[in-house]
Amino acid sequence: MQTSPNPAPPPDNALEIAGLTKIYAGGKRALDGVTLNVPRGMVFGLLGPNGAGKSTLINILAGLVNKTGGRAKIWDIDIDANPRDARGAIGIVPQELNIDPFFTPRELLDLQAGLYGVPAKARRTMEILEAVGLADKADAYARTLSGGMRRRLLVAKALVHSPPVLVLDEPTAGVDIELRQGLWAYVRALNAQGTTVVLTTHYLQEAEELCDRIAIINRGKLVADESKSALLARLDAKELRLTVDRDLAAVPAALAAFGAKLEGARLLLVPYRPSRTKAADILAAVAAAGVGIADLSTRESDLEDVFLQLVRQAA
Ligand code: ADP
Ligand code: MG
Repeated sequence: MQTSPNPAPPPDNALEIAGLTKIYAGGKRALDGVTLNVPRGMVFGLLGPNGAGKSTLINILAGLVNKTGGRAKIWDIDIDANPRDARGAIGIVPQELNIDPFFTPRELLDLQAGLYGVPAKARRTMEILEAVGLADKADAYARTLSGGMRRRLLVAKALVHSPPVLVLDEPTAGVDIELRQGLWAYVRALNAQGTTVVLTTHYLQEAEELCDRIAIINRGKLVADESKSALLARLDAKELRLTVDRDLAAVPAALAAFGAKLEGARLLLVPYRPSRTKAADILAAVAAAGVGIADLSTRESDLEDVFLQLVRQAA
């Protein structure tokens, strides 16, 4: 937790972003009036295709990119009015894996703790390295670390000042599946201990697995900001897949009314809206048509569908 001498009650929102705009020197409008709150205590996903503006937003919070317009508060601290304290409330794991190759993890963490004014006796260097699975590499040169280890070292570096908000920019790009699981487990554990986590990703599955709430940006504009379940429910589209017990020449008339399609001779694909149609009604229609069912499954709409739909609408 924070080492403030006079601890104020924690804010409701870990991040408050209002009308955030960025136009790069060349004229590229990377963010176009983004307004977004990240409630305290969440794992919050910021999704968007490549080039959407995710890193630009993160880098503004990190103090690495100057915004063109708008406001941002981190843990209730305005980044313009009080940039130093604002930076102290956030830990950022950048997208780029730039680590000085001639430092060891232990040295890097000590250096970072010094930069943030963490007193020697309050440092948790080994505890953090252990948590990210790098304790045995504490004294190895960074250049000898694999990509996955470097990523974890960057996570460790972002945590030395115990920030209440941790932001990870595309944390699992280039990280193999096993390490990804390990990283997620650690992120979940940090969140369970009270750290608000924001992650950007263009892997939908990652967001679906981890995030409580999801915002989507496309071409610098916010196109969604909802709880994950609301976002998924918005689609209201499922598909019933029925393998029938005999070859069919055509979709039975009773099922044609549902918009069913025949794939091959035995697979019937029946789209339906769960809010309006019960799967049982479709099954009853199949039975009424005198067709037996050998097997069945349903396909849920997933974030991929929502994402494509929203990005298409916003294009
Ligand atoms: P994301 O992280 O979502 O992939 P970025 O924030 O990196 O998106 O980029 C948003 C847009 O801004 C892209 O079109 C990108 O090419 C452009 N951009 C990013 N950084 C710079 C820069 N330093 N100068 C000019 N344009 C930039
Ligand atoms: Mg990026």
